[in-house]
Amino acid sequence: MKSDFVFQKAREWISECEHNHDQCPGPTIPLLPTRVIDVGRENQQPRLHVSTPGERARYVALSYCWGGDQPYATKKGTIHQKIGGIPMQELGQSIQDAITVARNISIRYIWIDALCIIQDDDDDKNRELAVMGDIYRRATVAITAANAARAADGFLHPLPELSSVSCPFLTSENTQGSGALVEHKWTLHNRAAGDPTDRRGWCFQEALLPCRRLVFGTQGLSWDCLQEDSKPVVEGNIHVLRSFKMLPPSTWGLPTQDPIPPAREQARMWKNLVKQFAKRELTKPDEDRTRAISGIGNVLADVHGDEYLSEVAMFRKSLLFQIDWRVDGFTARSRSRRAGGKTPTVVRIEGLPTWSWASVTGPISSLAMGKMSAEVIDDGSEITANELRSGLLRLRAKVIHGSRVEVGARRDWRVEFDLVEGDAFDDRHWFAFLGLDSLGQYSVGLVVSLIDGTNPQEWQRVGWFCANCGHDAVRPWSNIWDEKDVAVRDLVLR
Ligand SMILES: [Zn+2]
Repeated sequence: MKSDFVFQKAREWISECEHNHDQCPGPTIPLLPTRVIDVGRENQQPRLHVSTPGERARYVALSYCWGGDQPYATKKGTIHQKIGGIPMQELGQSIQDAITVARNISIRYIWIDALCIIQDDDDDKNRELAVMGDIYRRATVAITAANAARAADGFLHPLPELSSVSCPFLTSENTQGSGALVEHKWTLHNRAAGDPTDRRGWCFQEALLPCRRLVFGTQGLSWDCLQEDSKPVVEGNIHVLRSFKMLPPSTWGLPTQDPIPPAREQARMWKNLVKQFAKRELTKPDEDRTRAISGIGNVLADVHGDEYLSEVAMFRKSLLFQIDWRVDGFTARSRSRRAGGKTPTVVRIEGLPTWSWASVTGPISSLAMGKMSAEVIDDGSEITANELRSGLLRLRAKVIHGSRVEVGARRDWRVEFDLVEGDAFDDRHWFAFLGLDSLGQYSVGLVVSLIDGTNPQEWQRVGWFCANCGHDAVRPWSNIWDEKDVAVRDLVLR
């Protein structure tokens, strides 16, 4: 894929998108990130460029799999040397390839996390992670090294030959023609089966936030923008069906007729993103389960006028509509089986509150919620915001003690513990009713239990339940619970 023809096509797509696509942003000169790589010319060394405040220029953002340590990454001790120049041969092949692409599409700067963030400086890391969403959404174009599992691999390889069968035929002029049947590979579901970047957690927001992308995939180079999805840049056999457009157009400052959606809809959008993200792999889930999606969170908070609680990876105003998440036990179990049953299906991540989806590893899903009954107690003050950030959620809900619920005896009850193996239902548990699903058929809520030795009492979430309440929207619990057993309580969840 390293040919003048490919690069010329890529340049044409960028120009066409910037000037002729109604649904895409026009040509802009964005603010540069704190640091970028100045790629220089073919025979020059690239070097680290430290931007001046307010400096603007077009730049590329790279999305790729690290696949292990990158010894040439920028550190406190090497930053000055990198400002002087970086010998190409010291860099991983994927980084070299990205620099080659940037040069050939005539964009001078490129943002690469390993080089533009000081990797042994936690303050710098946190500062840059907080603006990562902006770095990707403002980039002129993103390069996705989709076919490379490691930074050392490179992504500009020649495409593999497709198997084909030649087919002679008789033309209408009665002469012999010749054609070929070429192998056709279809990839569904987010390219999950095909490309390494589609399985990695960090690559999720890097794929969604740019307004245009050049994707160097296993099956060729394709183009993504807000108007055109997965178009082959060079004729190949790319047929990928996936949902690239998961963020609202206002993410890129585009005008929209749609008003800001209500909290319920915002939560639904977020839960859909979480579902896609949570099934991806992370090398360090205890740190990155929240960090690797915070770029999208910060951008959406900006777009929706909500507050993103990055510590728990949830939004403040629509919190009530987000806490009904459930562990996708079926997917978790089938994954574990594929791994020979050796990996634990779902593990709790220490330090995160049990009411956040980010506190467990593995896939997450949820029902679309309708009428809510519970409420999150939030007086809007800084204190409540800090409580939420530190993991305390005050929930007012109808509750019933576990001993009053005959789960086993009723087929219309479903109780799922967050840790797929390792918990069983008993009378330590209480059921806290959140509300009805959007069809008004299921009562949905959380299974909670007291945390031993807390004073005042604190609760932890241990699971999720739903119960068929037969469309009784007025008193949805009356078919499943005895009214005299139901109480309203304020629960402090941690
Ligand atoms: Zn476009």
